[in-house]
Amino acid sequence: MNDDAQLPVLRAGAAVLGISLDAGQIGQFQRLQTLLLEWSARINLTAITDPNEIETRHFLDSLMCALAIPPHEWKRSFRVLDIGSGAGFPALPLAIAFPQWRITSLDATGKKIRFQRQAATSVGLSNFDAVHGRAEELAQQPSERARYHLVTARAVAALPTLLEYCAPFTRPGGRIVMPKKGDLADEIAAGSKAALELGALLLPPIAVTIPPLNDGRVLVVAEQRHRCRARYPRPAGAPAKHPLGRAIRARVYQRDKTRYTVGHIRGFDDREILLNDGRYAHGRARHFLAAGELI
Ligand code: SAH
Repeated sequence: MNDDAQLPVLRAGAAVLGISLDAGQIGQFQRLQTLLLEWSARINLTAITDPNEIETRHFLDSLMCALAIPPHEWKRSFRVLDIGSGAGFPALPLAIAFPQWRITSLDATGKKIRFQRQAATSVGLSNFDAVHGRAEELAQQPSERARYHLVTARAVAALPTLLEYCAPFTRPGGRIVMPKKGDLADEIAAGSKAALELGALLLPPIAVTIPPLNDGRVLVVAEQRHRCRARYPRPAGAPAKHPLGRAIRARVYQRDKTRYTVGHIRGFDDREILLNDGRYAHGRARHFLAAGELI
């Protein structure tokens, strides 16, 4: 088959984005597509297993993440972290399209990381590293904190949870990009509050307008303004179980049993309750909630 006939939707979409893919890179995408189809026949790797869908919903959709950065900065050698990358998305397409970026791909599922390592070797990627683990645990390593210029996470969790996974890894001035779809009003409201708590700021979402991905997709982008505080992320599981930014109405009683009423609690963990007026109620959240009531 003539090379020009390969992956036409990806080539056309990338061209509109301003990403030029040479014949070698198209060959790398083809090899990755073949490997995905082979592995998907044997193990449960990704819900998308049709070749055309892989081209649009995995390859092109992953490249959209680059829109979070102004194109004139793409040539810089960014450090990129993809959290919850699954079968390698958006990490692997970004590594192919931007060989000058150094991509770390993190996932909690071992077999998915094994696929990614084999794919990177087979495709010939030298700017790609796959790490098996949870975001909450990797973020405990001091060398990983505030290390990355760009942190991506697609289809992993709701915004407040995602932001708690991503912000600790993002350097001040760096960006977090979270592709999303559907009605996001509530998620963005909670995400904005969570972002502030994590030293970040949500920017206006970027609409994806490139066919066939012009179906209501947006990129939610946050800019890291300050280093994320050391208390985040909370221990494994907590960011998903008790998302920051949730408006919880509660009455809380102080230790001396004087009634102390707060409108909203921004978030809580075992150590403290974060009040919406910016004050912190120190002590065990469980004690406060036991002494108060959710309303
Ligand atoms: N980003 C990929 C995969 C989405 S599925 C895509 O868009 O196609 C979500 C993935 O996130 C799963 O593979 C799961 O193992 C991983 N995951 C969920 N929570 C995680 C965490 N706290 N740390 C690391 N990986 C996580």
